[in-house]
Amino acid sequence: MTVDPAAVADRLARLRARIAAAESAAGRPPGSVRLLLATKTQDAETIRAAVVADAGAPHPVLVGENRVQELVAKGPQLRDLGVTTHLIGPLQSNKVNAALRWASCIESVASLDLAQRLAARASGVEVYVQVNVSGEPTKHGVAPGDAVELARAIGALDGLRLGGWMTVGANSPDASVVSAGYALLRSLRDEVVASGAPGTADARELSMGMSGDLELAVAEGATLVRVGSALFGARPA
Ligand SMILES: *Cc1c(COP(=O)(O)O)cnc(C)c1O
Repeated sequence: MTVDPAAVADRLARLRARIAAAESAAGRPPGSVRLLLATKTQDAETIRAAVVADAGAPHPVLVGENRVQELVAKGPQLRDLGVTTHLIGPLQSNKVNAALRWASCIESVASLDLAQRLAARASGVEVYVQVNVSGEPTKHGVAPGDAVELARAIGALDGLRLGGWMTVGANSPDASVVSAGYALLRSLRDEVVASGAPGTADARELSMGMSGDLELAVAEGATLVRVGSALFGARPA
């Protein structure tokens, strides 16, 4: 793949401006929202162009990979780039060791069984609880009604750190439906953090919002948006 670093830099500048405008529109301080690059199918050279172009941004950019196999393949190059890498796709239990080798945060934890397997490695890895706020059957994540109990159980585990919450927003043309899902994730976060349950006090991150709807997510309190196509272009179907 050939990358045009100038084009990547241009799209990144526009993306950073979009995030800044969304923060401002929501009455939130500049720099409240971090950017995670959703880099599935992108090669290391393209990722490098984006990371280099983003130097000097309010927060260092994060990288998120969906598949452990791809994470492992790009792992050494991502490490050389010095970026922090998150896993944002589902993790099968037989791939836990590989994921822990290359990702410092697993955003896709949706079962106590997986959390226990991660905790058993005593890696101190950060995890987010992924919630399926829309209930769409194709989406990964714990049901909203089970999310508080799961978060409390994960918080009680030694060997990992509960850092926040993740969701993929509703696939709906109706902005109010998408926003309601993001507001739901925020209210689950607030309920658990306020509960005082052990290990939940720092579970403040809200990873929500993508290329098409990041403004809605920032308005509902996102602390981290995950963006792919707005930066890298549409993925081949
Ligand atoms: C691909 C992906 C994104 C980014 O989606 P875009 O619409 O390309 O910005 C965010 N989160 C997850 C989990 C993804 O798989």
